[in-house]
Amino acid sequence: MRKDKPNLTFEELREKLITYITDENDLDMIRKAYMLAFEKHFGVKRKSGEDYIIHPLNVAYILTEIYADAKTIQAALLHDVVEDTDVTIEEIEEMFGSEVALLVNGVTKINRLNFQGDNEAMIANHRKILVGLTEDVRVIIIKLADRLHNMRTIWALPEKKQKQKAKETLDILTPIAHRLGIGSIKSELEDLSLRYYKPDTYFDIVEKLNKSKAERDQLVIEMKQSVSSILNEHGIKHEIKGRSKSIYSIYKKLDKGKKFSDIFDLLALRVFVDTESECYQALGIIHSKYRPIPKRFKDYVAMPKTNMYQSLHTTVFGEGGQLYEIQIRTYEMDKVAELGIASHWSYKENGSNVKANMKNTMEQKLQFFRNIMDLKQEETNDADFVKSVSEEVLKENVYVFTPKGDVIELPSGSTPIDFAYRVHSGVGDKMVGAIVNNNIVPLDYVLKDNDIIKINTNKNSIGPSREWINMAYTSSAKNKIKAFYNKIDKEGYIEKGQEILKDECRKKKIAFNEIISNENIEKILKEYKFRNVDELYVNVGNGKITPTMIFNVINNNNENKVDIILKKATNNANIKQTVNKNDIVVEGIDDIKVNIASCCKPVPGDRVIGYITKGNGISVHRSVCPNVSELEERLIEVNWNTKISKKYSTTLLIRASESKNILLDVVSKTSNSDITIQSINSLSQSKDEYVFEITVMVDCKESLVKFMNDINSLQKINSIERIIK
Ligand code: MN
Repeated sequence: MRKDKPNLTFEELREKLITYITDENDLDMIRKAYMLAFEKHFGVKRKSGEDYIIHPLNVAYILTEIYADAKTIQAALLHDVVEDTDVTIEEIEEMFGSEVALLVNGVTKINRLNFQGDNEAMIANHRKILVGLTEDVRVIIIKLADRLHNMRTIWALPEKKQKQKAKETLDILTPIAHRLGIGSIKSELEDLSLRYYKPDTYFDIVEKLNKSKAERDQLVIEMKQSVSSILNEHGIKHEIKGRSKSIYSIYKKLDKGKKFSDIFDLLALRVFVDTESECYQALGIIHSKYRPIPKRFKDYVAMPKTNMYQSLHTTVFGEGGQLYEIQIRTYEMDKVAELGIASHWSYKENGSNVKANMKNTMEQKLQFFRNIMDLKQEETNDADFVKSVSEEVLKENVYVFTPKGDVIELPSGSTPIDFAYRVHSGVGDKMVGAIVNNNIVPLDYVLKDNDIIKINTNKNSIGPSREWINMAYTSSAKNKIKAFYNKIDKEGYIEKGQEILKDECRKKKIAFNEIISNENIEKILKEYKFRNVDELYVNVGNGKITPTMIFNVINNNNENKVDIILKKATNNANIKQTVNKNDIVVEGIDDIKVNIASCCKPVPGDRVIGYITKGNGISVHRSVCPNVSELEERLIEVNWNTKISKKYSTTLLIRASESKNILLDVVSKTSNSDITIQSINSLSQSKDEYVFEITVMVDCKESLVKFMNDINSLQKINSIERIIK
């Protein structure tokens, strides 16, 4: 059944709008947005054969089903005009105001992102970019509606495109829809994506469902009547609906190893009542007649999920020993389950500012957003980020309480250590013990739903124990403990470095003060590219640099300098990029192992030179790389082949004058080019400068240069350069 409306008119959309938007001025502006979109897309057809305007109309229509506000509807109607026609953002701003312009701009930027990528880190990165960097949640909601209509009409695209879009939807958009609690859009997107991503599995499930449908329908009708009559006996006003499970949810269960028969045997009902207390009454009445399976009872009424979902869930043995999953909820709870964060639009609070309300909801109620923001600030590498996302987005969670009764959501497997660090880093760092439900527990105790946790702290505590890194479950707690130790270690190394250097001076009978004269220090810092004396001591303290190396620098001893450079070059070689055979031609040698140097990361088109390592083939450096440019021996001529078989990565250092939206801007520059982003790392952020590293994969230098020029042309960018480590 086609859910899209290929013949939708503005009048039909308007009929829906006036059911909840009453302000004449708002309705006028929406019509104006429609007129502009109609005029600008005029004459353009979609792949499905319809006039282009049908698409924005459908997107707006989907949004009326979640009661989107007037500005969002205007932006939805205009969402493709900047990308596809000659209208500029400035013109939108002039005609519709800055808010609508901001929304359209956000959607345009997101649509330019290239979400392709198979590796988990990239997928997670994209999710991070989409959610973490979008300032107004309405942009994401428009994007979800846009994708929903595109998925509804994706039959018009070639199979390869269908699969790619379906996978992208499941990887990136449905987890976000879930977290925002927008159940209606989420489950339709999931089913549509599965239909195109794994058509065989999808139709297999549909067919099996159809086969047993008549029989299951009959059982559900009987159970409905039976439940209804006992609720009536107790005078509880209610409605009961049979509930069909989504194809995707069945697929997920099969994927987890459940059997077809077990899933299909489970029949589902949903009971609607007026008030929260009637939810519990209805539950009691149902349990008194039908035996429940104890472990299957879940009270999401007292403890809503973080996406605000509320309901009572229970599974009972019904007529004839048949299992029934029953959900009990009020009509209000049902609305939240379907609309999630968008349900806050529909509260008609007289004269209050809907946008402020949305922003509030976003900032205060959604832990997800906070988690993502947290992750942006902590130094996390990609692997950690993937873990956090799968922990915190995809896995089941436990809900525990602070002694004051605040609910804290943590991934299953969390311990009191995770709890303490979630509450506040300070609490974690000063923790000396934990009490759960009035009992002292070991710190590796695994938290359970409903646990009440009190963390004992001592302000004289010297800090977390290193063992806690293994006891903590969440990457965020682990990172905070590691950060604590990195700081301590740094101080320790500075002291140690100083001592080592002083000792060595004593042995060599040189005055320490002479060694650290301003002139000498300057020389050393320049040689090793250290920023300050502390960094020098840290490197001596941890053994990366020996006092002899320092004395050599001071005495300009060149013989040893080569050693130093060599050491640096090999140190850097720990992350190796493999070279496809034939991408690099080594003069005079056919069959030899070739590595790309990770210090200067050459890409095809760069002038390169080979360095013959001891026992590890040839490492290819850029000719300008200082790690090899001063070497004379063991160098060999190498060249890129004329044909290159894969992309190679290189790292760029970017300095920007502000951080707002900058990553989004940078990432959007990769669209329509052959650049793929591998990772982004924030290095530092101060009031007037934001510095980050971005590693990209390119197949030739021209694309890289063009990309760098594109970035440089952005207003907020101070500089962009390739890094040599
Ligand atoms: Mn669109």
